[in-house]
Amino acid sequence: MNLVWYGPGMTAQLPTLTDAQVLAARGAKNAVDPRRPYAFLVEAEYQPVGRVESVATLFLTNRECPFRCLFCDLWKNTTDESLAVGAIPAQIDFALCELGLRPGDATEADPVRHIKLYNSGNFFDHRAIPFQDHGAIAERVRAFKTVIVENHPLLCNDGCARFQDQIATQLEVAMGLETTHPEILKRLNKRMTVGDFSRASDVLVAEGIRVRAFILVQPPLMAATEGVEWAIRSMQFAFDCGVECCSLIPTRGGNGAMETLMLRDHFQPPTLEALEDAFDAGLALGRGRVFVDLWDIAKLVRCPRCGPPRTQRLQAMNLGQTELPRVTCDCGVEGLT
Ligand code: SF4
Ligand SMILES: [Zn+2]
Repeated sequence: MNLVWYGPGMTAQLPTLTDAQVLAARGAKNAVDPRRPYAFLVEAEYQPVGRVESVATLFLTNRECPFRCLFCDLWKNTTDESLAVGAIPAQIDFALCELGLRPGDATEADPVRHIKLYNSGNFFDHRAIPFQDHGAIAERVRAFKTVIVENHPLLCNDGCARFQDQIATQLEVAMGLETTHPEILKRLNKRMTVGDFSRASDVLVAEGIRVRAFILVQPPLMAATEGVEWAIRSMQFAFDCGVECCSLIPTRGGNGAMETLMLRDHFQPPTLEALEDAFDAGLALGRGRVFVDLWDIAKLVRCPRCGPPRTQRLQAMNLGQTELPRVTCDCGVEGLT
């Protein structure tokens, strides 16, 4: 495809893509069923109380996010249209039942005490999750100790506090900070500034809502040599904003726009070593929980000998929140940047 680069970034050699260009680069969506979450699982996660507990994570099927972030591939498992009122609560029922959990009826003895309702977008976007469904959703999740949803900072408003009242348990809102690099954040097309993130965090924290931040390790347009430094700066900023937990996401390709950038040397995924450096540094900050997203980690593995133990080290650090000794290998340091 032919992309026309434009904007003041030309002088800084940083391209900007419009919504239309991001959309034009996309491939096809996956087939999804509006009656089912597109995935669900139980995972272990270190909790602020200092121990590992189980979390039910539901990836709800719903209308795609209206933003067009340059790096985002979450649209792949979404619908074009809003779902009918009642569809989201039905998806939650289905997943909880399949996971052997009892909606709205959990007790202290239950093994799964937390739930993530991730919707590939923004929980407080009423075209994705109808407000009319909030009550029915609350009935199903209020027995969990923590309910974690995703949301864009610009969509954090009174609705968050109202939903926290409805669930009458701890709400946690996960927001993408992505990076605090000002020029790159602008070009991620997220339509958000660090000030927006800070204001949204203030609003949430003032209501007693916990905040989690997603931070990209080596976002597109960033020099590989700067990826770790900006991930650390971004974590520091997030913790300064009152964020309780930072989740490091190794930036991945796969949405079309990223492949276009890759062809022009404007994006390369982080190395495993960069991820290790950022994670070690995040834990060393000692400001809150830090996780690294291992979902697609196999793609970063280059050496069959050290790749698996290094991945296991990251998993163990996710669960222990303590830095462990680095894995050494005769391949040298993998993927030097
Ligand atoms: S706001 Fe989140 S879900 Fe929406 S496009 Fe951006 S990264 Fe993707
Ligand atoms: Zn090796």
